[in-house]
Amino acid sequence: MRMGVWILRSVIALSVTALVVTSPSGLCAQEPAVGVAAENVVLVTLDGLRGEEVFGGADVRLMIEELGCEKPDEILQRYASGSPVENRRTLLPFLWKQIDQGGWIAGDWERDSQVEVTNGRFFSYPGYNEILCGFADPNVDSNAKKYNANRTVLEWLNGQPDYQGRVAAFCSWDVFPFIINDRRSGISVNAGWQPITTGRPDVVQTLNYSAEHLFHEWAGVRYDVFTASAAIEAMLTTQPRVLYVALGETDDWAHAGRYDRYLLTAQQNDAFIRRLWEQSQRSSHYRDRTAFLITTDHGRGGGREGWKNHGAHLPGSERIWVAAFGAGVTAKGPDEGGRFRQAQVAATVAALLGEDFCAANSQIDRPLPIH
Ligand SMILES: [Zn+2]
Repeated sequence: MRMGVWILRSVIALSVTALVVTSPSGLCAQEPAVGVAAENVVLVTLDGLRGEEVFGGADVRLMIEELGCEKPDEILQRYASGSPVENRRTLLPFLWKQIDQGGWIAGDWERDSQVEVTNGRFFSYPGYNEILCGFADPNVDSNAKKYNANRTVLEWLNGQPDYQGRVAAFCSWDVFPFIINDRRSGISVNAGWQPITTGRPDVVQTLNYSAEHLFHEWAGVRYDVFTASAAIEAMLTTQPRVLYVALGETDDWAHAGRYDRYLLTAQQNDAFIRRLWEQSQRSSHYRDRTAFLITTDHGRGGGREGWKNHGAHLPGSERIWVAAFGAGVTAKGPDEGGRFRQAQVAATVAALLGEDFCAANSQIDRPLPIH
């Protein structure tokens, strides 16, 4: 049953990729603002993807059958046949290609580069609140579906004439409408197994039919292929200036103790980011005017059991990473010796667009020094 689902999902991923074509619209009269500010930002989060894998590639110590690897030798061959630097390029080829070509990344503790979660809880809602609102809030203390009292940078931008109605979020986890407070913010948040409503009608129909008829591993988390495909469709049709793509499967496969699927999902997510980038480069609306910012909501523990989970009781959960590339990103290469915080991401989204989110609230942490 499970293998059947995986094959079916691969077929859908291929079909959806084949359906992506050059944007028919996207006329923008302005000159590119490379090096000054981006016109658009794509923020992508990969739930609970550890820095250990981002910087060191797959961990061979976790590739054993007792830890949920069905075919350890195959997994080892596929992900960990080289040095740590080679292995990270195997796991996340597009991300590392972008870093090599002038992007920026921080959070590699081997290079004394640290990005820390400051909310002290190290699970998802507090993490996404910190990423999107620019500060840790002690009142955000569960993953319950409660409307966020804090205003995200998405809401703040959506409240300005230049961005009104041009901010969209596509999220695998069904708590995001509450985190972004779609009711108050007016932002379009498509999350969980909600039908996709934006895009070319034939593609949307295929995506929704597939999502409806696939086996759902989790009730509250949609497979990332649908989230990423919906975001691509938005790029092609409604062309949001601020596009948030929240991918979720990495965390769920880790909790399930499936290191093989955690790795596969990380690799697929890298391919989804590549698709988003390539689509942006085919569009006159986005090409050379779009910054990409990639991060995660929390780290995870270490060791044979610890990697599966995260939280205040598991050291390592506070360590995350942030990457950026594209228009307006002037910082280059892997950071060395930097000290950064998750709370800096929100103001960075605004700063890449030439906007000052810190002016909205004195609690908001300053932007990362990358623009
Ligand atoms: Zn989790």
